[in-house]
Amino acid sequence: MPVAPIDLEPDCSKCAALCCVVFAFDKSESFGLDKAAGKECPNLNIDNTCKIFEERVERGFPGCVSYTCFGAGQRVTQEVFGGASWREEPALKARMGAALSVLRRIHEQLVLLNAARGLPVTPEHSAQLKYFEATLCSNDPWSEETLSRFPIDKVAGDISNWMRQLRGLVS
Ligand code: SF4
Repeated sequence: MPVAPIDLEPDCSKCAALCCVVFAFDKSESFGLDKAAGKECPNLNIDNTCKIFEERVERGFPGCVSYTCFGAGQRVTQEVFGGASWREEPALKARMGAALSVLRRIHEQLVLLNAARGLPVTPEHSAQLKYFEATLCSNDPWSEETLSRFPIDKVAGDISNWMRQLRGLVS
């Protein structure tokens, strides 16, 4: 069965501001302050917009500009948690963070496979690419349980090894 296309572009309007809440960051050249995992960034507005969005680089948060969830944030919020938010249920922070950690890596692998699709691959490479895509794109909606069981380290390692074989195709 063909796999439906997955949106790999972030849509913050459909996400519960997960990247501004669930992950920790340290005060550094990338972030202007220390923040613990599960703590809201003080720059986050109640409507999940960023108070300093247009000035993040100047205000010391270039890490927020370079980070991308590859579209996993809105999917965790809408698909895995049915549109729920940690704002109404704070215990969801850790659970949504765990789901995002895996689904972001799944989407990252799909971005890599999309890039490989543009190369002049052999039929064997093409078949392997389709296999990886089918592995990463479940026909059923993801759940906390299926994400927690997904062997992302193994799959990412297999894709990395496979992509090494393609190096000779890049001019
Ligand atoms: S600075 Fe803005 S974009 Fe960065 S984590 Fe805080 S609220 Fe989110």
